[in-house]
Amino acid sequence: MLVVMDNHASADQIERVVQVIEEMGYQARPMPGLQRTTVGLVGNDGRVDGSRIEALPGVAEVIHVSKPYKQVSREWKQENTLVRIAPGVVFGGEQIQIIAGPCSVESEDQIVTAARQVRAAGATALRGGAFKPRSSPYSFQGLGKRGLELLAVARQETGLAIVTEALDEDGVHRVAEVADCIQIGARNMQNYSLLRAAGRAGKPVLLKRGMAATITDLLMSAEYILAEGNDQVILCERGIRSFDTMTRNLFDLTAIPLVQKLSHLPMVADPSHGTGLRDKVTPMARAAVAAGADGIIVEVHPNPERALSDGAQSLYPEQFKSLVEELRAIASAIGRSVATLASARSAGTAPVTVG
Ligand code: PEP
Ligand code: MN
Repeated sequence: MLVVMDNHASADQIERVVQVIEEMGYQARPMPGLQRTTVGLVGNDGRVDGSRIEALPGVAEVIHVSKPYKQVSREWKQENTLVRIAPGVVFGGEQIQIIAGPCSVESEDQIVTAARQVRAAGATALRGGAFKPRSSPYSFQGLGKRGLELLAVARQETGLAIVTEALDEDGVHRVAEVADCIQIGARNMQNYSLLRAAGRAGKPVLLKRGMAATITDLLMSAEYILAEGNDQVILCERGIRSFDTMTRNLFDLTAIPLVQKLSHLPMVADPSHGTGLRDKVTPMARAAVAAGADGIIVEVHPNPERALSDGAQSLYPEQFKSLVEELRAIASAIGRSVATLASARSAGTAPVTVG
């Protein structure tokens, strides 16, 4: 339930609404807006009788949220949420952010070279797994803690923001120490204890759609993170399982406008895992930006033939460079632009206005 206050409601009136919500046994989330404050009621599993709150002074309206995901929904919050992972690197605004880098961190030389290459081509964030969720226990599992240290070196060298995956609750804390944004992978989308831990880790979260997850499942998983008080969540379409084995996954482009209609959270797309095929990554990345994605996350490796994971879907650095140029043209055709690190840095550390 959402309590919309009058434009001129006083701080005391807002406080009284908070008190009554708490007396009723729920939690209150006051959300100051440009025009007026709304107070969200959370902790309910079903419809709450709003009559006691409706009668309070300063209350304009009580809205019942019809969706099972509450805080994630556009009913809860109409304006886009801006997710800022580093100074000036903001998802959900006019600018499209590009996260790029190898599937896994393999060595200092590999990650620093990749970081320099993707930065030169126009990425604003570096991806790279230190902890890898592999289908086989015998495949390369990532460098672990050392991988995180190398990501920190790559950030130091390039200024790129770091996006990297946490696999379990213990890992969340270690990853949060280094990452600018914690990635929760497809296989863990419904690992609810991990989602809760990520919600408490104090860093933005990039939540990938599970390979057999509906869009409602994805939004419900995001709700776990927001329920912990963290609304800095980026959603990600990365392809779902289909009967057709021609591609690794079925890249669900429609998920982009669907999610953006249902939720105020930014939505990015991963055409690398979405297709699994290098030569399909560029067309699907173009399509994702044309469909309105707030960013893309794409695998790029200095030497894909030698990659320890996902080489077949990793772009060559030159391919990535051409892709970014094409994305700029597509973005401008739809009234957006592709962010650059220079524009990010000139935005400095000024606080970003959310909603
Ligand atoms: C990855 O980003 O390398 C990854 C493992 O992705 P997903 O969770 O989408 O499979
Ligand atoms: Mn990968």
